[in-house]
Amino acid sequence: HHGIRQVLGRLGVQEQNPAFSTGLQWGGATNANTRAIHSPTDGQRIASVALVTAEDYEQVILKAQEAFKTWRQVPAPKRGEIVRQIGNKLREYKEDLGKLVSYEMGKILQEGLGEVQEMIDICDFAVGLSRQLHGLTMHSERPAHRMYEQYHPLGLVGIISAFNFPVAVWSWNAMLAAVCGDVSIWKPSEKTPLVAVAVQHIIKDVLTENELPEGIFNVIIGDAEIGAKMAADTRVPLVSATGSTRMGKKVGEVVGARLGKALLELGGNNAIILTEHADLDIAIRAVLFGAVGTAGQRCTTTRRLIIHDSIYEDVKQRLLNAYPKLPIGHPLQEGNLVGPLIDTDAVQSFTKALQEVQAEGGKLLTGGEVLSGSGYETGTYVQPALVEAKNEYHTVQEETFAPILYLIKYSGSVEEAIDLQNGVRQGLSSSIFTLNMREAEAFLAATGSDCGIANVNIGTSGAEIGGAFGGEKETGGGRESGSDAWKIYMRRQTNTINYSTQLPLAQGIKFDI
Ligand code: NAD
Repeated sequence: HHGIRQVLGRLGVQEQNPAFSTGLQWGGATNANTRAIHSPTDGQRIASVALVTAEDYEQVILKAQEAFKTWRQVPAPKRGEIVRQIGNKLREYKEDLGKLVSYEMGKILQEGLGEVQEMIDICDFAVGLSRQLHGLTMHSERPAHRMYEQYHPLGLVGIISAFNFPVAVWSWNAMLAAVCGDVSIWKPSEKTPLVAVAVQHIIKDVLTENELPEGIFNVIIGDAEIGAKMAADTRVPLVSATGSTRMGKKVGEVVGARLGKALLELGGNNAIILTEHADLDIAIRAVLFGAVGTAGQRCTTTRRLIIHDSIYEDVKQRLLNAYPKLPIGHPLQEGNLVGPLIDTDAVQSFTKALQEVQAEGGKLLTGGEVLSGSGYETGTYVQPALVEAKNEYHTVQEETFAPILYLIKYSGSVEEAIDLQNGVRQGLSSSIFTLNMREAEAFLAATGSDCGIANVNIGTSGAEIGGAFGGEKETGGGRESGSDAWKIYMRRQTNTINYSTQLPLAQGIKFDI
């Protein structure tokens, strides 16, 4: 089985895994409530995990609170040094962890390795950041006064992650939070908890070697309920949640009700615009990878293709040539580009969306079958679908987390295409392919794309860690990873110091006593 047993062994994943870890200690192994995790690739049982109880959760919070007292006093560059070591450990385990990501989640090995590389990159980024947690200084309007701002550690950061980037999203949050002086509590997706167990084993060595207290990096294994408990917990000042808009609306409401901070990274409905001035050779590559890569299970997956009618037939033909040739199969098998969907529920959503869009008037051009036969026994492999549709169709307005690409025609100017692209409730990633400078700039202007990510001659899928990642509207508005995304993990304080012998008031206010 592709050496998975050995990989699990090296990563410390056992037959039965405990429900939580505080970095150094594991706990909750005796919980009666356990769950078996099966691979979507071949249906094999990989291992099982225990699920945290309310008491376990309480223990973890107490450990985290205790650790925060120490961690926030460690100088930021020293915290960066710990993150540097974590990055190095991840380099050592890259092959194994990448393989487990691929096996547990179903993305192809190259993408599993890519995901671990992203973790390593964010570690490097965070190390640099640990010396750059800058505030500004301002000129005071009062004589002999100094005014500046500083950023202090915030406290406990809850990280709720989705199945599709089962480890990278944790690292975006946890590594930044760590250099910022926060401690984190990670609730991985209940569909992919084993990679979280593995990651926790990897960082344990670093914590031990540096004699750090437990409670800096915590993991709790459980479903939505425990996530909801954390969202409601006033001891957790920031909850960073990645997943569906449905989930984000709930978490946002609960965190908002207690005036906590929520960082929401939710669903997308990403479009690529192909204008009459597009370089189709590069565009088709971007469309293909964007639409079928990770079997359509990226938040940045290309779901809509908005095509100028002058090139519509050409584009359609090129895609119709490519789609039937897609190598679909076991993600650890070299040469395959498309792996399985996460489970048969996801397959049902795929099939249902295709039925619904056809009922609305859409035309299925190719694909849409659930694959069967040798290698496809799990019922989780599907043939990516191409559908001619209209933007306003209910089905097109929704994010179906599966490989369906909707072809949408426009006939007027680029503004018409931009209106279509913006005409959905989500606002994550967007692209235009054009060699025309006016069209490209129109797309990037204030009147252009309304998404958090807007690309020119690059697809929607994937992003570099150096930029802030996230989206607008129902995507939730949060920003993670690069640029100044770190600021949400800290509390900002403005300080004014008077070193004069007077007490002048601001705005020239005078009073006598
Ligand atoms: P999901 O919403 O089903 O689950 C995500 C996480 O939220 C899980 O850990 C789950 O246990 C937890 N959760 C669910 N309900 C909750 C609640 N009421 N309170 C607290 N926690 C709760 O999503 P999924 O199927 O794992 O992931 C796919 C979705 O994630 C897609 O919509 C995709 O676009 C989105 N996603 C977004 C980004 C981004 O950065 N914008 C990245 C990856 C995935």
